[in-house]
Amino acid sequence: MSEMEQAVQEIRERVCKAAAQAGRSPDEIKIMAVTKTVEIERVNQAVACGLTLIGENKVQELLGKLPSLEGQPEIHLIGQLQTNKVKYIVDKVDMIQSVDSIKLMREIEKQAAKIERRMQVLLEVNIGREESKGGVLPEELDALLKEAAQLNYVAVEGLMAIPPMEQPEAAGAYFEKMRQLFIDIGAKKLDNVNMHVLSMGMSGDFEEAIRHGSTLVRVGTALFGRRDYAQK
Ligand SMILES: *Cc1c(COP(=O)(O)O)cnc(C)c1O
Repeated sequence: MSEMEQAVQEIRERVCKAAAQAGRSPDEIKIMAVTKTVEIERVNQAVACGLTLIGENKVQELLGKLPSLEGQPEIHLIGQLQTNKVKYIVDKVDMIQSVDSIKLMREIEKQAAKIERRMQVLLEVNIGREESKGGVLPEELDALLKEAAQLNYVAVEGLMAIPPMEQPEAAGAYFEKMRQLFIDIGAKKLDNVNMHVLSMGMSGDFEEAIRHGSTLVRVGTALFGRRDYAQK
């Protein structure tokens, strides 16, 4: 077995175990390969090993990799997105997970309308209320949901969050808050809003996220090893 196959298998086993402990089916949980800073050959290896969903943080990096990307994985943008870059990716990604302003939503609407494609998005929640982080505060979600109801080419499919790194022991409490928001919003049955995807959990905490209802874990380091930002 190759190193990559082994890493993928280990992650699958961790997901299965956490799901079983939570009384959930592992089929409810998608594994995303987070490919930032990872060279394209290794991204292709991961896809060949059956990880058919990849996440990139930066528009520029994604565009650079696309011509050499093999296997047609599903592609999500997971990093902060500037409105002026939406036009470069609107026809290239399957979902934008990091929507955190009305302005950004409107720009996605505008660009998606041009190509008559409905863009799936997640609303990113700054659940730890960190100043340095993207995402909206929980109390700001209503305004975004209201806006979404007015749009024709944006479909809100769920929520995404990154809990504060500094307090890993508190991750469970943050994940639980996210689960509550996810359930509450889903129950409102709003136009254009379907709470299908709860994207939370990374290499260090995805088991905990799965225990709190995550349906999509975003895994970088556990799959590819430590990132070498110096190479970029
Ligand atoms: C980098 C990144 C990840 C992956 O983090 P790891 O700890 O390496 O698994 C997940 N989600 C987002 C939004 C990221 O930027």
